[in-house]
Amino acid sequence: MFIHHPILVTEVHVTNPDPAFAEKLLEQYGGTTGELTAALTYWTQSFHTDHRGIRDMLQDIGTEEFSHLEIIAMLIEQHTQRASVNVQDAAYRSTLFSLRGAGPHLVDSKGSYWDGRYVNEGGHVVRDLRANVAAEAGALATYEELLRYAPDDGTRNALRNLATREVSHTQMFMEALKTVNGLDNPLFGDLKPDNTVNLYFNMSNGPDADQRGPWNSEPAFQYVADPLQHELQQHASVPQYSNEMAMTPSAGNPPRETLQPARTPPPPQQQGR
Ligand code: MN
Ligand code: MN
Repeated sequence: MFIHHPILVTEVHVTNPDPAFAEKLLEQYGGTTGELTAALTYWTQSFHTDHRGIRDMLQDIGTEEFSHLEIIAMLIEQHTQRASVNVQDAAYRSTLFSLRGAGPHLVDSKGSYWDGRYVNEGGHVVRDLRANVAAEAGALATYEELLRYAPDDGTRNALRNLATREVSHTQMFMEALKTVNGLDNPLFGDLKPDNTVNLYFNMSNGPDADQRGPWNSEPAFQYVADPLQHELQQHASVPQYSNEMAMTPSAGNPPRETLQPARTPPPPQQQGR
């Protein structure tokens, strides 16, 4: 059941209406990183998991994102409707509002229609929660840019609140990932990785092209400084493997080790499907 209360999650009080800025705001209404995308993504994802706590969280945050959509709609409305005729005339000449009229429309800042393909959702709770951390980063980055252009304090205050909540959501998704052992462990399905899982291939050389850091060092990673040499050694240590043999592994050489799904079910702490 959905009930709408006409109470805003933050004040919307535009003092310097600017239709050109309203056009930028459309990015958070009908754009990739926008509030509709967030709301429908988390709502849809909530039906992918049996974890009751995470389902409840996804539905709470998804519903909150609809409240954000409401704030963006009102900001766009005030930045278009309340602009003086002179400002409107000047701004409308270069914005899509000249054709569509005042108020929000389900398009992004360049006038492209909202698209269901913006929704990043799949069949596994860890996959979904990771997508959400990235989605919140995208929303936060858009808000950072909008705040730079915001023409008055009323707009800035509303945007700061919406941006702050995206930070909160990021933390919630990261805590949820920890709960299902998905924050530190890249594996979450049934995959039994092969022996390349901890190799870092140094695929570049030249000035600054052999940088080292935790992302390519022990204990997590084995650094392959010369990947060509590494491949040649690999080929020398196994029988030569031609394309023809690849088509007919029974002809003599066994295929190189392939990814085998684990036969055991996932451990019980891994919630979801
Ligand atoms: Mn939001
Ligand atoms: Mn959010």
